[in-house]
Amino acid sequence: MNKEEFLKYGHEIVEWAAEYMENAGKYPVSPRIRPGEIREKLPSAPPETGEPMETIFRDFREIVLPGITHWQHPGWFAYFPANNSPASVLAELLTATLGAQCMSWNTSPAAAELEEVVLGWLRGMLGLPEGWAGVIQDTASTSTLAALLTAREKATGYESNAKGLKKPLTVYVSTETHSSAEKGVKIAGYGRENLRIVPVDEDLGMDPAALERAIDADEKAGLVPACVVGTVGTTSSGAVDPLAAIGRVARAHGMWFHVDAAYAGTAALLPEKRHVLDGVELADSFVFNPHKWMLTNFDCSAYFVRDAGALVRTFEIHPEYLKTGEDARVNNYRDWGIPLGRRFRALKLWFVLRSYGVEGIRAMVREHLRLAGQFKGWVEGHPRFELLAPVHFGLLCFRFNDNRPEADLDALNRRLLERINASGRVFLTHTTLRGKYTIRLVVGQRTTAERHVREAWDIIRSSAEALSEDRA
Ligand code: PLP
Repeated sequence: MNKEEFLKYGHEIVEWAAEYMENAGKYPVSPRIRPGEIREKLPSAPPETGEPMETIFRDFREIVLPGITHWQHPGWFAYFPANNSPASVLAELLTATLGAQCMSWNTSPAAAELEEVVLGWLRGMLGLPEGWAGVIQDTASTSTLAALLTAREKATGYESNAKGLKKPLTVYVSTETHSSAEKGVKIAGYGRENLRIVPVDEDLGMDPAALERAIDADEKAGLVPACVVGTVGTTSSGAVDPLAAIGRVARAHGMWFHVDAAYAGTAALLPEKRHVLDGVELADSFVFNPHKWMLTNFDCSAYFVRDAGALVRTFEIHPEYLKTGEDARVNNYRDWGIPLGRRFRALKLWFVLRSYGVEGIRAMVREHLRLAGQFKGWVEGHPRFELLAPVHFGLLCFRFNDNRPEADLDALNRRLLERINASGRVFLTHTTLRGKYTIRLVVGQRTTAERHVREAWDIIRSSAEALSEDRA
């Protein structure tokens, strides 16, 4: 493709993107596609000779787009948001254009220094302790894995079990902790049998007394408690673990304390919500995802550590071909995580922070919380809906309960969710809380406004009433 063609299709694609970002709401949120349907429309072999961009872009619109789930739709209330923004998308275009590998300071000094600066900004915005250092990872799963690996290395003396430790190391999570912690435990070699699942209290936060009992029991059995993972904003219900109490237990036992605030960390940008991070100062590491609820398109996970030296000692590697004369004076982010090659992710974060400003981001989050509060009021005010968990953020957990036997309510709510999503106007997902099938609704998409939340409630209510009448 020559420059003229790049300009022609560049304009066309940017126009398409601008239209999509304003009007993603015109598509059904999730596609009605059967498995294999898209694959059947694609040739089994690549073209021998290049095809015109016109044809490729046409196929994107006609074949790919109908099979896309529209995460940027204002009716997106499923899982957690993964919102983007025009500023972030433009920065991604520049990142792809530069095509820089940002593994070491000298492979792109501006990328390394911008990453230092924007993560310093984020640290201050969240009120994390001074002296903590940040690095961008691809996902919260990777950040949590980095925490588990560092905890393992710390417990064993940083290099090939230098402390001569032969005893198994144990890790503690709650029943509500995200599955990425369990995956990390498997990958990091702790062994699934050394993962302890601590019970939660009535608000679904980890019970610190039960945590302490589990740790004491393991110590008595000759095991070595190495790491505990606390969560701010659990995936199922948005619960908040008591960080200060967990942190005190972790300190008392010389353990690593990792805090996962992948989704809800963004809420702590609001002074009136900062209390959700109280106790984080006792943590060793902390992750939150600007790619969830902070207008920065996937992937961008901000990982902060108290002791950058511990992180670097875990991951650093010095092959001759990567050594430079600057190594002692700069951050080589290849040593702050798993991959060698790294994308220039700091650029989109910088674009987002500058184009919205801290207040612009806070305004979006505040509005989402207001809308979630409004929805909560509607659920509470309806005689046949019930909330199933406290609401701390934009996530609401509820079910329809028309007084049929408890044993039938799960099936009723499963059918209700199918009916809601069949509307194509909104997309919600489910979980189970204390064994009850629970519908989740998360307000967090950039373009979601009050009218969309009202529409969601109308669809939910009328679908529930229709289902209830079917039975009558
Ligand atoms: N932690 C929590 C609390 C989450 O809710 C999620 C995903 O929703 C994750 C971790 C995993 O995030 P990622 O996709 O960035 O690995």
